[in-house]
Amino acid sequence: MIIDCHGHYTTEPSELGQYRDQQKTDLQKNPLHQAERGILKITDDQLRESVEGAQLKLQRERGTDRTIFSPRASGMGHHIGNESTSQAWTAHCNELIYRLTQLYPNNFIGVCQLPQSPKVALDASVTELERCVSELGFIGCNLNPDPTGGYFTSPPLGDRYWYSIYEKMCELKVPAMIHVSAACNPVFHTTGSYYLSADTTAFMQMMTSDIFKDFPDLKLIIPHGGGAVPFHWGRFRGLADMLKLPTLNELVLNNVFFDTCVYHQPGIDLLLDVIPIDNILFASEMMGAVRGIDPETGHYFDDTKRYILGNTTLSDEDRQKIFEGNARRVYSRLSDAIGA
Ligand SMILES: [Zn+2]
Repeated sequence: MIIDCHGHYTTEPSELGQYRDQQKTDLQKNPLHQAERGILKITDDQLRESVEGAQLKLQRERGTDRTIFSPRASGMGHHIGNESTSQAWTAHCNELIYRLTQLYPNNFIGVCQLPQSPKVALDASVTELERCVSELGFIGCNLNPDPTGGYFTSPPLGDRYWYSIYEKMCELKVPAMIHVSAACNPVFHTTGSYYLSADTTAFMQMMTSDIFKDFPDLKLIIPHGGGAVPFHWGRFRGLADMLKLPTLNELVLNNVFFDTCVYHQPGIDLLLDVIPIDNILFASEMMGAVRGIDPETGHYFDDTKRYILGNTTLSDEDRQKIFEGNARRVYSRLSDAIGA
């Protein structure tokens, strides 16, 4: 079985966007506008139509089996409006994922976005995570380390600000993918520079914090191949040494995992060479940041299965870990959800 641990619902029916636009209009009139859930009129047929020619078609063509599926990351927009804005928006986004997991239980497993809001405590996020896991059968969450959308003024991930969500994650036995949303700071390109900067920043924050001492069972996934981390592994090892920290193996590798959303063979080869196999989870983020065909290979950039198969050093056992075994270990609820 091949489990793709990183997929977003990027083909939503337009009604979802209209709902978001209405939220923004309300906020223009009154920045303190208290959002209400309201009703999204999206039918099951619309949901089917939105994925049949897209994510499901690519699953079939590429021969992957399950996608761990969450709302569009760039759409989370935690910097927009206030806490109520984020709560109403998040509930709708998560419920669409839930409905897709019910329509396609053999293709999608849910991961939720959280109703974060800058400078607001994480109580609502804890509640939404509990609801999504206990009631909707989700197996993880996307945690935004920078809900300001590119200004990085929130506390680092080692700060006690984040501890309530870590506690709930450990209690529910679910991991988080550390994933920012769209950048509203014009110095960044969302998927080109902001995502990769945030991935790299998150790793350094984890390295220099006590989170894994305080939460030894916490599991965090850094997407997009870990940003610059694998390429600069020597720098991070050297910094750990200079800062008189334990080795990276002791410091983070029981808790931190990297996905394979790296869109060329040499990048994947480096990731597989540098990072222990047990810490790598297969993912493509298909229909996401990079959707075109690589003119050098004639294949989709985000068809990452090809690069895993194209790596000449992996043993069959290691490949199986990357495609399936590690995901089952990191997403503790996955095997219960889909069976052995
Ligand atoms: Zn993503």
